[in-house]
Amino acid sequence: MSDIQSKDSSKLSAFKKLTAVKGMNDVLPGESAKWEWLESKVRTLMAQYAYRNIRTPIVEPTALFVRGLGEVTDIVEKEMYSFEDRLNGEALTLRPESTAGVVRAVVEHNMLYEGGKRLYYMGPMFRHERPQRGRYRQFHQIGAEVLGFQGPEIDAEVILLAHDLWQAIGLKDVRLELNSLGQPPERLAHRSALIQHFEKHQDLLDEDAKRRLYTNPLRILDTKNPAMKDVVESAPKLMDFLGEVSLAHFNALRQILDINGVHYTLNPRLVRGMDYYNLTVFEFITDQLGSQGTVCGGGRYDYLIEQVGGKPAPAVGWALGLERVLALLEEQGALPPDAVPDAYAIVPDASTLPLVLKYLRSLRGLGIKVQMHAGSGEGVGSMKSQFKKADGSGAAYALIFGADELSQNKVSVKSLRDGNGAQRSESLDNLETWAHSLQFPH
Ligand code: ATP
Ligand code: MG
Repeated sequence: MSDIQSKDSSKLSAFKKLTAVKGMNDVLPGESAKWEWLESKVRTLMAQYAYRNIRTPIVEPTALFVRGLGEVTDIVEKEMYSFEDRLNGEALTLRPESTAGVVRAVVEHNMLYEGGKRLYYMGPMFRHERPQRGRYRQFHQIGAEVLGFQGPEIDAEVILLAHDLWQAIGLKDVRLELNSLGQPPERLAHRSALIQHFEKHQDLLDEDAKRRLYTNPLRILDTKNPAMKDVVESAPKLMDFLGEVSLAHFNALRQILDINGVHYTLNPRLVRGMDYYNLTVFEFITDQLGSQGTVCGGGRYDYLIEQVGGKPAPAVGWALGLERVLALLEEQGALPPDAVPDAYAIVPDASTLPLVLKYLRSLRGLGIKVQMHAGSGEGVGSMKSQFKKADGSGAAYALIFGADELSQNKVSVKSLRDGNGAQRSESLDNLETWAHSLQFPH
Protein backbone atom coordinates (compact mmCIF):
# COMPACT_ATOMS: atom_id res chain seq x y z
CA MET A 1 0.00 0.00 0.00
CA SER A 2 1.41 3.40 -0.90
CA ASP A 3 1.74 6.21 1.63
CA ILE A 4 -1.07 8.15 0.09
CA GLN A 5 -3.41 5.15 0.19
CA SER A 6 -2.68 4.32 3.81
CA LYS A 7 -3.16 7.93 4.87
CA ASP A 8 -6.44 7.98 3.01
CA SER A 9 -7.73 4.78 4.53
CA SER A 10 -6.83 5.91 8.05
CA LYS A 11 -8.91 9.02 7.47
CA LEU A 12 -11.80 7.15 5.89
CA SER A 13 -13.94 7.01 9.02
CA ALA A 14 -13.93 10.79 9.20
CA PHE A 15 -15.80 11.04 5.92
CA LYS A 16 -19.55 11.18 5.73
CA LYS A 17 -21.07 7.83 4.82
CA LEU A 18 -21.91 7.62 1.13
CA THR A 19 -25.28 6.24 0.17
CA ALA A 20 -26.96 5.23 -3.08
CA VAL A 21 -28.67 7.91 -5.15
CA LYS A 22 -32.26 8.53 -4.06
CA GLY A 23 -34.71 6.26 -5.87
CA MET A 24 -31.95 3.89 -6.99
CA ASN A 25 -31.79 0.64 -5.07
CA ASP A 26 -29.22 -1.99 -4.31
CA VAL A 27 -30.54 -5.49 -4.89
CA LEU A 28 -28.94 -7.60 -2.19
CA PRO A 29 -28.60 -11.40 -2.05
CA GLY A 30 -31.90 -12.86 -0.94
CA GLU A 31 -33.68 -10.24 -3.00
CA SER A 32 -31.50 -10.84 -6.06
CA ALA A 33 -32.28 -14.58 -5.91
CA LYS A 34 -35.88 -13.66 -6.70
CA TRP A 35 -34.74 -11.50 -9.59
CA GLU A 36 -32.66 -14.34 -11.01
CA TRP A 37 -35.56 -16.73 -10.64
CA LEU A 38 -37.88 -14.39 -12.56
CA GLU A 39 -35.26 -13.69 -15.23
CA SER A 40 -34.68 -17.38 -15.82
CA LYS A 41 -38.44 -18.01 -16.19
CA VAL A 42 -38.52 -15.22 -18.75
CA ARG A 43 -35.56 -16.65 -20.70
CA THR A 44 -37.19 -20.07 -20.87
CA LEU A 45 -40.49 -18.68 -22.11
CA MET A 46 -38.84 -16.34 -24.62
CA ALA A 47 -36.96 -19.31 -26.05
CA GLN A 48 -40.25 -21.23 -26.33
CA TYR A 49 -41.70 -18.35 -28.36
CA ALA A 50 -38.46 -18.12 -30.41
CA TYR A 51 -37.66 -14.56 -29.26
CA ARG A 52 -33.98 -13.67 -29.20
CA ASN A 53 -32.10 -11.50 -26.73
CA ILE A 54 -30.84 -8.03 -27.64
CA ARG A 55 -28.61 -5.83 -25.45
CA THR A 56 -28.36 -2.16 -26.27
CA PRO A 57 -26.39 0.60 -24.46
CA ILE A 58 -27.79 2.30 -21.38
CA VAL A 59 -26.76 5.69 -22.76
CA GLU A 60 -28.24 6.90 -26.05
CA PRO A 61 -28.27 10.23 -27.93
CA THR A 62 -30.92 12.47 -26.34
CA ALA A 63 -32.42 13.08 -29.80
CA LEU A 64 -33.46 9.43 -30.02
CA PHE A 65 -35.94 9.83 -27.16
CA VAL A 66 -37.09 13.34 -28.06
CA ARG A 67 -37.83 12.19 -31.60
CA GLY A 68 -39.01 8.70 -30.71
CA LEU A 69 -41.15 9.19 -27.60
CA GLY A 70 -42.49 12.64 -28.48
CA GLU A 71 -41.60 16.05 -27.11
CA VAL A 72 -44.80 16.50 -25.14
CA THR A 73 -44.67 13.33 -23.06
CA ASP A 74 -44.06 13.07 -19.31
CA ILE A 75 -40.83 11.23 -19.92
CA VAL A 76 -39.26 13.72 -22.31
CA GLU A 77 -40.66 16.80 -20.60
CA LYS A 78 -39.52 16.06 -17.09
CA GLU A 79 -38.25 12.56 -16.38
CA MET A 80 -35.06 12.11 -18.40
CA TYR A 81 -31.55 12.03 -17.00
CA SER A 82 -29.91 14.04 -19.75
CA PHE A 83 -26.38 15.41 -19.72
CA GLU A 84 -23.68 16.72 -21.94
CA ASP A 85 -20.60 14.63 -22.61
CA ARG A 86 -17.85 16.68 -21.01
CA LEU A 87 -15.36 15.81 -23.71
CA ASN A 88 -17.26 16.39 -26.93
CA GLY A 89 -20.45 18.16 -25.92
CA GLU A 90 -22.71 15.37 -27.23
CA ALA A 91 -26.25 15.45 -25.78
CA LEU A 92 -26.77 12.10 -24.05
CA THR A 93 -29.53 10.49 -21.96
CA LEU A 94 -29.75 7.48 -19.65
CA ARG A 95 -32.42 5.40 -21.36
CA PRO A 96 -35.87 5.92 -19.82
CA GLU A 97 -37.20 2.94 -21.82
CA SER A 98 -35.79 0.52 -24.34
CA THR A 99 -38.08 0.44 -27.36
CA ALA A 100 -36.40 3.45 -28.98
CA GLY A 101 -32.93 1.96 -28.41
CA VAL A 102 -33.95 -1.42 -29.83
CA VAL A 103 -35.42 0.27 -32.89
CA ARG A 104 -32.24 2.34 -33.31
CA ALA A 105 -30.15 -0.84 -33.17
CA VAL A 106 -32.42 -2.70 -35.59
CA VAL A 107 -32.15 0.16 -38.09
CA GLU A 108 -28.42 0.68 -37.54
CA HIS A 109 -27.65 -2.98 -38.20
CA ASN A 110 -30.18 -3.35 -40.97
CA MET A 111 -31.68 -6.26 -39.05
CA LEU A 112 -34.95 -6.38 -41.00
CA TYR A 113 -33.05 -7.01 -44.23
CA GLU A 114 -34.01 -10.67 -44.36
CA GLY A 115 -37.37 -10.49 -42.63
CA GLY A 116 -39.03 -9.72 -39.33
CA LYS A 117 -37.40 -10.08 -35.93
CA ARG A 118 -38.68 -11.18 -32.53
CA LEU A 119 -36.55 -9.72 -29.74
CA TYR A 120 -36.49 -9.37 -25.97
CA TYR A 121 -34.38 -7.44 -23.47
CA MET A 122 -33.93 -7.00 -19.74
CA GLY A 123 -32.22 -4.15 -17.96
CA PRO A 124 -32.22 -0.92 -15.98
CA MET A 125 -34.13 2.20 -17.07
CA PHE A 126 -33.88 5.69 -15.59
CA ARG A 127 -36.63 8.22 -14.95
CA HIS A 128 -36.55 11.21 -12.64
CA GLU A 129 -39.83 10.56 -10.84
CA ARG A 130 -40.92 10.93 -7.23
CA PRO A 131 -39.72 7.70 -5.60
CA GLN A 132 -42.43 5.65 -3.90
CA ARG A 133 -43.43 2.01 -3.69
CA GLY A 134 -43.35 0.63 -7.23
CA ARG A 135 -41.85 3.83 -8.65
CA TYR A 136 -38.10 4.33 -8.67
CA ARG A 137 -35.51 6.43 -10.50
CA GLN A 138 -33.58 3.38 -11.58
CA PHE A 139 -35.98 0.56 -12.26
CA HIS A 140 -35.85 -2.54 -14.42
CA GLN A 141 -37.83 -3.61 -17.39
CA ILE A 142 -38.19 -6.80 -19.35
CA GLY A 143 -39.51 -6.18 -22.83
CA ALA A 144 -40.52 -7.94 -26.01
CA GLU A 145 -40.36 -6.22 -29.40
CA VAL A 146 -41.47 -7.75 -32.68
CA LEU A 147 -40.48 -5.82 -35.79
CA GLY A 148 -41.44 -6.28 -39.43
CA PHE A 149 -44.84 -7.97 -39.08
CA GLN A 150 -48.14 -6.28 -39.72
CA GLY A 151 -50.95 -8.68 -38.91
CA PRO A 152 -53.08 -8.75 -35.76
CA GLU A 153 -51.80 -12.27 -35.05
CA ILE A 154 -48.51 -10.68 -33.94
CA ASP A 155 -50.30 -8.27 -31.59
CA ALA A 156 -51.98 -11.40 -30.24
CA GLU A 157 -48.69 -13.27 -29.99
CA VAL A 158 -47.03 -10.63 -27.80
CA ILE A 159 -50.09 -10.41 -25.57
CA LEU A 160 -50.24 -14.21 -25.26
CA LEU A 161 -46.54 -14.21 -24.42
CA ALA A 162 -47.12 -11.85 -21.49
CA HIS A 163 -50.21 -13.82 -20.46
CA ASP A 164 -48.23 -17.07 -20.50
CA LEU A 165 -45.48 -15.44 -18.46
CA TRP A 166 -47.96 -14.68 -15.66
CA GLN A 167 -48.92 -18.35 -15.72
CA ALA A 168 -45.30 -19.52 -15.73
CA ILE A 169 -44.45 -17.46 -12.64
CA GLY A 170 -47.75 -18.06 -10.86
CA LEU A 171 -48.89 -14.42 -10.97
CA LYS A 172 -52.61 -13.98 -10.38
CA ASP A 173 -55.20 -11.24 -10.65
CA VAL A 174 -53.73 -9.13 -13.42
CA ARG A 175 -56.35 -7.96 -15.85
CA LEU A 176 -55.77 -7.04 -19.46
CA GLU A 177 -57.07 -3.71 -20.74
CA LEU A 178 -57.21 -3.15 -24.46
CA ASN A 179 -57.76 -0.20 -26.79
CA SER A 180 -57.05 0.85 -30.34
CA LEU A 181 -55.54 4.25 -31.14
CA GLY A 182 -56.21 3.84 -34.85
CA GLN A 183 -54.05 5.43 -37.53
CA PRO A 184 -52.76 9.02 -37.73
CA PRO A 185 -55.62 10.44 -39.87
CA GLU A 186 -58.19 8.91 -37.50
CA ARG A 187 -56.35 10.34 -34.55
CA LEU A 188 -56.30 13.75 -36.19
CA ALA A 189 -60.08 13.78 -36.57
CA HIS A 190 -60.46 12.63 -32.97
CA ARG A 191 -57.97 15.27 -31.87
CA SER A 192 -60.13 18.10 -33.21
CA ALA A 193 -63.17 16.70 -31.43
CA LEU A 194 -61.13 16.31 -28.26
CA ILE A 195 -59.88 19.90 -28.33
CA GLN A 196 -63.44 21.13 -28.83
CA HIS A 197 -64.62 19.09 -25.88
CA PHE A 198 -61.89 20.31 -23.55
CA GLU A 199 -62.27 23.93 -24.75
CA LYS A 200 -65.91 23.72 -23.68
CA HIS A 201 -64.80 22.62 -20.21
CA GLN A 202 -61.70 24.79 -19.73
CA ASP A 203 -62.66 25.46 -16.10
CA LEU A 204 -62.39 21.75 -15.27
CA LEU A 205 -58.86 21.34 -16.62
CA ASP A 206 -55.78 21.27 -14.41
CA GLU A 207 -52.53 23.06 -15.30
CA ASP A 208 -51.05 20.04 -17.06
CA ALA A 209 -54.13 19.59 -19.21
CA LYS A 210 -54.31 23.28 -20.13
CA ARG A 211 -50.71 23.19 -21.21
CA ARG A 212 -51.33 20.13 -23.36
CA LEU A 213 -54.64 21.19 -24.83
CA TYR A 214 -53.13 22.18 -28.17
CA THR A 215 -49.84 20.29 -28.12
CA ASN A 216 -50.98 16.82 -27.11
CA PRO A 217 -54.66 16.65 -26.07
CA LEU A 218 -54.71 12.84 -26.27
CA ARG A 219 -52.31 12.79 -23.36
CA ILE A 220 -54.92 14.52 -21.18
CA LEU A 221 -56.86 11.24 -21.23
CA ASP A 222 -53.92 9.65 -19.42
CA THR A 223 -54.28 11.99 -16.42
CA LYS A 224 -54.01 10.58 -12.93
CA ASN A 225 -55.84 13.56 -11.46
CA PRO A 226 -59.12 12.30 -9.94
CA ALA A 227 -60.63 15.79 -10.20
CA MET A 228 -60.58 15.44 -13.98
CA LYS A 229 -62.27 12.04 -14.05
CA ASP A 230 -65.65 13.31 -15.31
CA VAL A 231 -64.35 15.60 -18.03
CA VAL A 232 -62.11 12.80 -19.31
CA GLU A 233 -64.84 10.19 -19.19
CA SER A 234 -67.24 12.31 -21.17
CA ALA A 235 -64.62 13.09 -23.85
CA PRO A 236 -65.12 11.79 -27.41
CA LYS A 237 -63.74 8.28 -27.81
CA LEU A 238 -61.06 7.51 -30.34
CA MET A 239 -62.73 4.16 -30.98
CA ASP A 240 -65.67 6.00 -32.56
CA PHE A 241 -63.31 7.58 -35.11
CA LEU A 242 -61.75 4.37 -36.37
CA GLY A 243 -62.22 3.40 -39.99
CA GLU A 244 -62.92 -0.04 -41.39
CA VAL A 245 -59.32 -1.23 -41.65
CA SER A 246 -58.39 -0.22 -38.11
CA LEU A 247 -61.55 -1.80 -36.73
CA ALA A 248 -60.88 -5.02 -38.65
CA HIS A 249 -57.39 -5.20 -37.14
CA PHE A 250 -58.76 -4.67 -33.66
CA ASN A 251 -61.58 -7.17 -34.08
CA ALA A 252 -59.24 -9.80 -35.45
CA LEU A 253 -56.99 -9.38 -32.42
CA ARG A 254 -59.96 -9.69 -30.08
CA GLN A 255 -61.08 -12.84 -31.84
CA ILE A 256 -57.66 -14.49 -31.40
CA LEU A 257 -57.63 -13.57 -27.72
CA ASP A 258 -61.14 -15.00 -27.33
CA ILE A 259 -60.17 -18.28 -29.04
CA ASN A 260 -57.17 -18.52 -26.70
CA GLY A 261 -59.26 -17.90 -23.61
CA VAL A 262 -57.56 -14.61 -22.70
CA HIS A 263 -59.97 -12.27 -20.94
CA TYR A 264 -59.73 -8.52 -21.44
CA THR A 265 -61.72 -5.39 -20.94
CA LEU A 266 -61.97 -2.53 -23.43
CA ASN A 267 -60.72 0.76 -22.05
CA PRO A 268 -61.38 3.61 -24.48
CA ARG A 269 -59.25 5.98 -22.37
CA LEU A 270 -56.14 3.82 -22.47
CA VAL A 271 -53.55 5.87 -24.40
CA ARG A 272 -50.12 4.97 -22.91
CA GLY A 273 -47.27 7.33 -22.12
CA MET A 274 -45.41 7.58 -25.43
CA ASP A 275 -46.50 9.09 -28.73
CA TYR A 276 -45.22 6.26 -30.86
CA TYR A 277 -48.20 3.95 -30.54
CA ASN A 278 -50.90 3.31 -33.15
CA LEU A 279 -53.69 0.73 -33.46
CA THR A 280 -53.40 -1.74 -30.56
CA VAL A 281 -52.46 -0.56 -27.06
CA PHE A 282 -52.80 -2.64 -23.91
CA GLU A 283 -51.89 -2.80 -20.23
CA PHE A 284 -51.85 -5.55 -17.63
CA ILE A 285 -53.11 -4.04 -14.39
CA THR A 286 -53.48 -5.17 -10.78
CA ASP A 287 -55.49 -3.66 -7.93
CA GLN A 288 -53.03 -5.01 -5.37
CA LEU A 289 -50.23 -2.44 -5.73
CA GLY A 290 -52.07 0.79 -4.99
CA SER A 291 -51.70 3.49 -7.64
CA GLN A 292 -48.64 1.79 -9.18
CA GLY A 293 -50.90 -0.90 -10.61
CA THR A 294 -49.67 -1.20 -14.18
CA VAL A 295 -47.27 -4.13 -14.33
CA CYS A 296 -46.89 -4.31 -18.11
CA GLY A 297 -47.80 -2.07 -21.02
CA GLY A 298 -47.36 -2.06 -24.74
CA GLY A 299 -48.81 -1.76 -28.18
CA ARG A 300 -48.18 -1.34 -31.86
CA TYR A 301 -45.71 1.30 -33.10
CA ASP A 302 -45.75 1.13 -36.88
CA TYR A 303 -44.25 4.60 -37.44
CA LEU A 304 -41.34 4.62 -34.99
CA ILE A 305 -38.84 2.83 -37.22
CA GLU A 306 -39.29 5.49 -39.89
CA GLN A 307 -39.04 8.27 -37.29
CA VAL A 308 -35.71 6.92 -36.16
CA GLY A 309 -34.48 6.97 -39.75
CA GLY A 310 -35.19 3.43 -40.94
CA LYS A 311 -37.20 2.12 -43.86
CA PRO A 312 -40.86 2.04 -42.75
CA ALA A 313 -41.73 -1.24 -41.04
CA PRO A 314 -44.48 -2.23 -38.61
CA ALA A 315 -43.75 -3.26 -35.03
CA VAL A 316 -45.40 -4.21 -31.75
CA GLY A 317 -44.12 -4.84 -28.23
CA TRP A 318 -44.48 -4.46 -24.48
CA ALA A 319 -42.42 -3.78 -21.37
CA LEU A 320 -43.03 -4.99 -17.84
CA GLY A 321 -41.72 -3.49 -14.63
CA LEU A 322 -39.64 -6.11 -12.85
CA GLU A 323 -39.94 -4.48 -9.42
CA ARG A 324 -43.71 -4.31 -9.74
CA VAL A 325 -44.05 -7.93 -10.88
CA LEU A 326 -41.89 -9.06 -7.94
CA ALA A 327 -43.80 -6.87 -5.48
CA LEU A 328 -47.04 -8.40 -6.70
CA LEU A 329 -45.69 -11.94 -6.45
CA GLU A 330 -44.51 -11.13 -2.92
CA GLU A 331 -47.96 -9.78 -2.07
CA GLN A 332 -49.47 -13.05 -3.34
CA GLY A 333 -46.93 -15.21 -1.49
CA ALA A 334 -45.88 -16.74 -4.79
CA LEU A 335 -42.11 -16.18 -4.65
CA PRO A 336 -39.80 -19.18 -4.29
CA PRO A 337 -37.82 -19.57 -1.07
CA ASP A 338 -34.32 -18.12 -0.96
CA ALA A 339 -31.59 -20.22 -2.57
CA VAL A 340 -29.49 -22.24 -0.10
CA PRO A 341 -26.52 -24.55 -0.62
CA ASP A 342 -27.22 -28.29 -0.74
CA ALA A 343 -24.30 -29.09 1.53
CA TYR A 344 -21.91 -27.33 3.91
CA ALA A 345 -18.35 -28.66 4.19
CA ILE A 346 -17.04 -28.85 7.75
CA VAL A 347 -13.26 -28.96 7.95
CA PRO A 348 -11.99 -29.60 11.50
CA ASP A 349 -8.31 -29.46 10.52
CA ALA A 350 -7.25 -26.46 8.43
CA SER A 351 -4.25 -28.33 7.05
CA THR A 352 -6.58 -30.62 5.07
CA LEU A 353 -8.23 -27.71 3.22
CA PRO A 354 -6.23 -28.06 -0.02
CA LEU A 355 -7.43 -31.63 -0.45
CA VAL A 356 -10.97 -30.86 0.68
CA LEU A 357 -11.20 -28.09 -1.92
CA LYS A 358 -10.44 -30.66 -4.58
CA TYR A 359 -13.28 -32.97 -3.47
CA LEU A 360 -15.71 -30.06 -3.21
CA ARG A 361 -15.01 -29.15 -6.81
CA SER A 362 -15.76 -32.72 -7.86
CA LEU A 363 -19.06 -32.59 -5.97
CA ARG A 364 -19.94 -29.30 -7.65
CA GLY A 365 -19.17 -30.94 -10.96
CA LEU A 366 -21.88 -33.47 -10.08
CA GLY A 367 -24.35 -30.63 -9.63
CA ILE A 368 -24.25 -30.38 -5.83
CA LYS A 369 -24.15 -26.81 -4.45
CA VAL A 370 -21.51 -26.90 -1.73
CA GLN A 371 -20.40 -24.11 0.58
CA MET A 372 -16.93 -24.49 2.07
CA HIS A 373 -16.34 -23.51 5.66
CA ALA A 374 -13.82 -20.73 6.18
CA GLY A 375 -12.77 -19.14 9.46
CA SER A 376 -13.41 -15.46 9.93
CA GLY A 377 -10.26 -15.04 12.04
CA GLU A 378 -7.21 -17.24 12.41
CA GLY A 379 -7.79 -20.97 11.81
CA VAL A 380 -11.11 -22.63 11.05
CA GLY A 381 -12.77 -22.43 14.49
CA SER A 382 -14.23 -25.17 16.66
CA MET A 383 -16.44 -28.00 15.37
CA LYS A 384 -19.29 -26.50 17.34
CA SER A 385 -18.99 -23.12 15.63
CA GLN A 386 -18.64 -24.82 12.24
CA PHE A 387 -21.84 -26.79 12.82
CA LYS A 388 -23.59 -23.58 13.78
CA LYS A 389 -22.52 -22.03 10.49
CA ALA A 390 -23.62 -25.16 8.61
CA ASP A 391 -27.04 -24.94 10.22
CA GLY A 392 -27.32 -21.23 9.51
CA SER A 393 -26.45 -21.72 5.85
CA GLY A 394 -29.70 -23.58 5.28
CA ALA A 395 -27.86 -26.53 3.73
CA ALA A 396 -29.59 -29.91 3.85
CA TYR A 397 -26.37 -31.77 4.71
CA ALA A 398 -23.09 -31.24 6.52
CA LEU A 399 -20.11 -32.98 4.97
CA ILE A 400 -17.54 -33.56 7.70
CA PHE A 401 -14.02 -33.92 6.35
CA GLY A 402 -12.30 -35.17 9.53
CA ALA A 403 -8.54 -35.77 9.20
CA ASP A 404 -8.93 -39.49 10.12
CA GLU A 405 -11.70 -39.99 7.61
CA LEU A 406 -9.77 -38.20 4.92
CA SER A 407 -6.81 -40.49 5.46
CA GLN A 408 -9.16 -43.40 4.63
CA ASN A 409 -10.63 -41.54 1.66
CA LYS A 410 -13.91 -41.10 3.49
CA VAL A 411 -16.28 -38.28 4.46
CA SER A 412 -19.14 -38.22 6.97
CA VAL A 413 -22.47 -37.10 5.57
CA LYS A 414 -24.86 -35.80 8.19
CA SER A 415 -28.42 -34.75 7.51
CA LEU A 416 -29.14 -31.34 9.05
CA ARG A 417 -32.87 -31.25 8.42
CA ASP A 418 -34.40 -34.65 9.12
CA GLY A 419 -34.65 -34.20 12.88
CA ASN A 420 -32.58 -37.17 14.07
CA GLY A 421 -29.36 -36.06 12.37
CA ALA A 422 -28.53 -39.41 10.82
CA GLN A 423 -24.88 -39.63 9.83
CA ARG A 424 -23.15 -42.03 7.51
CA SER A 425 -19.67 -42.56 6.17
CA GLU A 426 -19.20 -42.37 2.38
CA SER A 427 -16.33 -43.04 0.04
CA LEU A 428 -14.45 -40.14 -1.55
CA ASP A 429 -13.30 -42.44 -4.34
CA ASN A 430 -16.86 -42.98 -5.60
CA LEU A 431 -18.61 -39.66 -5.12
CA GLU A 432 -21.24 -40.39 -7.77
CA THR A 433 -22.54 -43.48 -6.00
CA TRP A 434 -23.83 -41.53 -3.00
CA ALA A 435 -23.93 -37.88 -4.16
CA HIS A 436 -26.84 -38.59 -6.47
CA SER A 437 -28.89 -40.16 -3.68
CA LEU A 438 -28.79 -37.05 -1.47
CA GLN A 439 -32.26 -35.53 -1.06
CA PHE A 440 -32.67 -31.77 -1.32
CA PRO A 441 -35.85 -29.90 -0.49
CA HIS A 442 -35.56 -27.76 -3.67
P1 ATP B 1 -46.85 4.61 -14.99
O1 ATP B 1 -48.17 5.00 -15.59
O2 ATP B 1 -46.98 3.74 -13.77
O3 ATP B 1 -45.93 5.78 -14.80
P2 ATP B 1 -45.70 4.14 -17.55
O4 ATP B 1 -46.84 4.19 -18.46
O5 ATP B 1 -44.83 5.34 -17.41
O6 ATP B 1 -46.16 3.67 -16.09
P3 ATP B 1 -44.17 2.41 -19.25
O7 ATP B 1 -43.31 3.48 -19.75
O8 ATP B 1 -45.21 1.86 -20.12
O9 ATP B 1 -44.81 2.87 -17.88
O10 ATP B 1 -43.25 1.23 -18.70
C1 ATP B 1 -43.70 -0.12 -18.65
C2 ATP B 1 -43.71 -0.62 -17.22
O11 ATP B 1 -42.52 -0.27 -16.54
C3 ATP B 1 -44.81 -0.03 -16.36
O12 ATP B 1 -46.01 -0.69 -16.58
C4 ATP B 1 -44.27 -0.27 -14.97
O13 ATP B 1 -44.53 -1.60 -14.57
C5 ATP B 1 -42.80 -0.08 -15.15
N1 ATP B 1 -42.38 1.27 -14.73
C6 ATP B 1 -42.50 2.43 -15.39
N2 ATP B 1 -41.96 3.46 -14.70
C7 ATP B 1 -41.48 2.92 -13.55
C8 ATP B 1 -40.79 3.44 -12.41
N3 ATP B 1 -40.46 4.72 -12.33
N4 ATP B 1 -40.44 2.58 -11.42
C9 ATP B 1 -40.75 1.27 -11.50
N5 ATP B 1 -41.39 0.71 -12.54
C10 ATP B 1 -41.75 1.53 -13.56
MG1 MG C 1 -44.73 6.97 -16.05
